[in-house]
Amino acid sequence: MLDKLWPQEAHLDDRGDLWLGGCSATKLAAEYGTPLYVFDEATLRGRARAYLAALKQHYAGPAQVAYAAKAYLCRALAQLWNEEGLDLDVVSGGELHVALAAGFPPERIHFHGNNKTAGELQEALAAGVGRIVVDNFHELALLADLVDPARDPRVAAEPLRIWLRVAPGIQAHTHAHIQTGHLDTKFGFTLTTGDAERAAVRAMRTPGLALVGLHCHIGSQIYETEELAAAAARLVDFAADLRDRYGFLLHELSPGGGWGVPMTPADPAAPIADYVAALAGALTAACRQRDLPLPRLILEPGRSLVAPAAVALYTVGSRKEIPGVRTYVAVDGGMADNIRPALYGAQYTALRIGRRETSSVKHEVSDVERRAASGQGGVAGEGCQTSDVEGEGEWERVTIAGKFCESGDVLIRDIALPRLEAGDLLAIPMAGAYTLAMASNYNLARRPAVVLVNQGEARLIQRRESYADLLARDLPLHDEVAGPPRPHARPAASAGRRFAKYQALGNDYIVLDPADWPEPPAAEQIRRLCDRRLGVGADGILWGPLPPTTADAAGRCFGVRLFNPDGSEFEKSGNGLRIFARYLWDRRLPAGPDFALQTPAGPVVAHVLDAGGDRIALDMGRLSFDGREIPLVGSPREVIEEPATVAGRALRITAVGIGNPHCVVFVDDPDADLADLARSLGPEMEHLPLYPNRTNVQFARVRGPHELEMAIWERGAGYTLASGTSSCAAAGAAIRTGRCVSPVTVHMPGGSLRVEVNAAWEARLIGAVAPVCTGEVAADLIAP
Ligand code: PLP
Repeated sequence: MLDKLWPQEAHLDDRGDLWLGGCSATKLAAEYGTPLYVFDEATLRGRARAYLAALKQHYAGPAQVAYAAKAYLCRALAQLWNEEGLDLDVVSGGELHVALAAGFPPERIHFHGNNKTAGELQEALAAGVGRIVVDNFHELALLADLVDPARDPRVAAEPLRIWLRVAPGIQAHTHAHIQTGHLDTKFGFTLTTGDAERAAVRAMRTPGLALVGLHCHIGSQIYETEELAAAAARLVDFAADLRDRYGFLLHELSPGGGWGVPMTPADPAAPIADYVAALAGALTAACRQRDLPLPRLILEPGRSLVAPAAVALYTVGSRKEIPGVRTYVAVDGGMADNIRPALYGAQYTALRIGRRETSSVKHEVSDVERRAASGQGGVAGEGCQTSDVEGEGEWERVTIAGKFCESGDVLIRDIALPRLEAGDLLAIPMAGAYTLAMASNYNLARRPAVVLVNQGEARLIQRRESYADLLARDLPLHDEVAGPPRPHARPAASAGRRFAKYQALGNDYIVLDPADWPEPPAAEQIRRLCDRRLGVGADGILWGPLPPTTADAAGRCFGVRLFNPDGSEFEKSGNGLRIFARYLWDRRLPAGPDFALQTPAGPVVAHVLDAGGDRIALDMGRLSFDGREIPLVGSPREVIEEPATVAGRALRITAVGIGNPHCVVFVDDPDADLADLARSLGPEMEHLPLYPNRTNVQFARVRGPHELEMAIWERGAGYTLASGTSSCAAAGAAIRTGRCVSPVTVHMPGGSLRVEVNAAWEARLIGAVAPVCTGEVAADLIAP
């Protein structure tokens, strides 16, 4: 019904709605908002399997597929490819970090890139990535330095396996911006100048390096197999020359990715099997000719795996008609989520979907399909005239513009579509590759949400960016913002919902009771409630008491979920949980002063120390320095005062877990400003590659055997005045490194907490908690 441009599990119903993976696009747009990127899981898995099956059928040697993460990466996708047995090709510390955070096996990761920094190479080595694809002499020198067996005896036993990226001097028939294999390219060692040979010799003679393979990638969006096959054959020739001259053994060969996908009905269908068959055939023939055993063949498709799986959904807004010239119809996305048309003239097609009100809808939609199928309509640049064909609804030729402040922000030029009105939904297929991956915050756009659909179920795999995300890296000159009064914090006359706010040593939390909030608060509601200028203002939200999934013998266990001000959920907070215990105490829910709270990180026990509940202690669980428990990336170990470089500064870090991960740095300099350090280094340290799930960061200074001073950067929340788990982590690290003995009072800008740690490393937090206010939140603050 729909043509080759649409995902495998896509169809239109008789009301004009588009169904993707068994989900209605209209409903997805209503639920998640637009722009929305919808990935069809069956298409993703189907294409991966098509690659693997074609390799099995057409290539007699060993073979593998490595997904080129640059086309689009998020943790869910990395996990899906891992399930399908693919390898992964990454080109930056960022892609590597996301892959590792998804649990992707490092030995199946290949690291590409034409200017990897020394830091990125170090991260890759620390993670144990499988192959480094060396691009240039500078990188070869950096690696030689990093893997010097004289300094690291492990390297002598197991040298680092590398490939060389070669520019084979073959020009692909594609847009100049995505050609990479010809002479004038920034990528790789040039074959024709002799650089490739010099690099190979240098690599073979460098102690600690093992040159096991050759790689090339001549470009992207290629529909003809000849050039791709010719490039692979040229690598074989080069390998045979190296064998003859230097005894080189070619174990692995990768001709990169680059296979195209149709973008309009006029483009060829580009079956995966045709490409694999042609390539495998050429490679086999070349090896036979030069008498080389078949190397392991690694294909690196990006676009052809993900582009066909995704459809971008937009909502139509304004229109501008310039008689005799052009009609612009603007949608709510554009170059910030898909820069390809503006960057290199990529062509897309589109479908108006989900218009329900007229009986001609069915007719119009089938007409779009008919025109699309004949290469006539729903296609850019086909020269269709504005028409109102009798009985066919009104058609017009329009240019689909984005909403961003560039004249070049156009998604589709000159496309014939049924007349579009504000509020209509527009679906653009073939949207999965190099769209989200190149997305920006231009005009401070929030990057779109991404859902994965399959058999009628939709899973959000990337939430839409929030306004808080836009401020996450932003360090203002002043913390205090002179804002408007807090209109929503007044007791509202409207039918609002109740909240209670408490503070505990510099942290304030809002408690939302399921009695008033039967559903967990939505991310947007949380952001508004926590916003100190718009809402009530708080460091987070506590939603509970919830029925516990496990109860202690007396049934005295209260479930709770915790949310950061940006809407993300977290596992545990010392101060947050003490506040929650006080809330329960104030409502007379616990049977006695000792009771359990069930958090996503497991149960913790609270102790109310005085009748009024003003002092509350919390058993925080066991402090752990074990890399498997925290967790940490890499081989299981403890990280105690390990050297690390952050923003050019040499630090010593200690990794601690207490239900959530922490990175503690002890500062000896009495004049150093701890808050300053947390603010300036925290944003980068939060993303230290050592921590797969990001980390909280503490800068601590010893005041005495029982006293620490500390500043905190909290993951997901930023600089914060006080934190219970951070206090435990810093106290634990101070005890572990012999700086302090229990109990330790931790002084933070927001107040002081006492931490007791016993011989089994179990930590208990003790400190004050006080109510701030209760009230009702105005309905419009929390309206969806
Ligand atoms: N491998 C390398 C080294 C690349 O540079 C690229 C894309 O630029 C790819 C693979 C993936 O290419 P494509 O998405 O066209 O398959």
